[in-house]
Amino acid sequence: MQNCATNNLSGKRVLVVGAGRAGLAAFALLEKLGARAALTDSAWGDSRIACVSGFDMLVVSPGVAMDNELVALAKGAGISVVSELDLSLGAKPNGFSGRILAVTGTNGKSSVVSMISQSLSSMGLNNKIVGNFGVPLSAEILDLKPDCNIILEASSYMLEGSRALKPDIAIITNIAKDHLKRHKTMKNYVSVKAKIFENMYNGSKAILNYDCKYTPEFAKKIKARVFYFSTKQKVLGAYLKDDGLYLNLNPYTDSLLVCRLEQLKLKGLHNIENYLASLLACYFVFNNDYVIEQLAKGLTSARGLTHRTELVRAHENVTYINDSKATNVHSTISALNSLSEKCVLILGGADKGECFKDLFTNPNLAYAVVIGENAGKILSAAKALGFSNILNVENLEVAIKGATEFAKQKGIKKVLFSPASASFDRYKNFEERGEHFKQLVLDL
Ligand code: ADP
Repeated sequence: MQNCATNNLSGKRVLVVGAGRAGLAAFALLEKLGARAALTDSAWGDSRIACVSGFDMLVVSPGVAMDNELVALAKGAGISVVSELDLSLGAKPNGFSGRILAVTGTNGKSSVVSMISQSLSSMGLNNKIVGNFGVPLSAEILDLKPDCNIILEASSYMLEGSRALKPDIAIITNIAKDHLKRHKTMKNYVSVKAKIFENMYNGSKAILNYDCKYTPEFAKKIKARVFYFSTKQKVLGAYLKDDGLYLNLNPYTDSLLVCRLEQLKLKGLHNIENYLASLLACYFVFNNDYVIEQLAKGLTSARGLTHRTELVRAHENVTYINDSKATNVHSTISALNSLSEKCVLILGGADKGECFKDLFTNPNLAYAVVIGENAGKILSAAKALGFSNILNVENLEVAIKGATEFAKQKGIKKVLFSPASASFDRYKNFEERGEHFKQLVLDL
């Protein structure tokens, strides 16, 4: 997208494309900035605005694809096009001194922004989560206190449209196959994620997952200083060793023990990765003499989010876990790995073009119950691997009953709902799906 002056919009005619949360917030921000704003959405059919003549600028919501007809028309007519994120970054109040922390990756973004926010708050540092998780930046930017640290959860869609994002601290949690329907190839997906580092400068910090196979591709392109996190080895950054989380920021001094695993509220290797990434980010924001004590206090106070390996209930010796946010295979594998025993897995939903076979070799998977649009595809993947402990049922209610029966017959103590698929075949979003699961479990 073209960059254009977003700091003097008084009297300018601006069209906002996409009337979701971010679009509505951009519209309201434009009005406050004195622009003459209009709003449109392709879902409005005949009442949508279908041409760009008369507008000085287009603001595009993150959900709107780059090949949108209005975007193409504006570009053809030489009208500047900016993303909702860039519009709001351009409206940062004078004297704003807070850091911008940007988090992207395939899985763990919301968990990490939430951990960072909880930790900074417990250290007494002002912060606000914006972006995919939380509110759009446009809704907040004019009201932020000058020292507020902005924690942005940046989706690929957001990064694709942004030119102005210049984080002080940027994190890529991990990269795995996801959103291939939109990005077509892994190469495209990785290069969109790498945009988070595009405008970084010498003093800024990039935080990367040392254990992720795509990391070297990012590391070679970054202008910022690079720090790593790892659950497998000592790295420059933050790492897990035995049962301790360590900071190692200087190759010439000893690593510092920050806290022990038993002090942390969330379990599982994927959560440790999230803690390590958050630890580094908080360290770079909070630079003072008491840093280790404060960091430990921050991390150990952080709680998990709903719909992410969330314990729902133990009933008649079976524990039910809601992981409705697991919309890809990578996240379901991390949920399976976080269990210390075998489970019955309920999965399936709207297909995202992924391959399911890695699930059926996981040692913690004893039985599977499949539901949803892609149930047939999942069954075929299981059969191809000779995995026959699998049942296909018509809906979530029947799936919970089937999973409970399996668990009781075989003495299995955990039922995990981790769909490895999107929710849109039957639900508005993953939250609605997770709430449905929880209600059915509470009704048992
Ligand atoms: P995102 O915002 O990137 O979608 P979330 O924090 O909402 O990530 O978690 C999405 C899913 O991924 C959940 O099922 C969660 O249990 C799982 N998850 C969280 N952190 C990680 C991680 N670091 N690696 C793999 N899976 C993760």
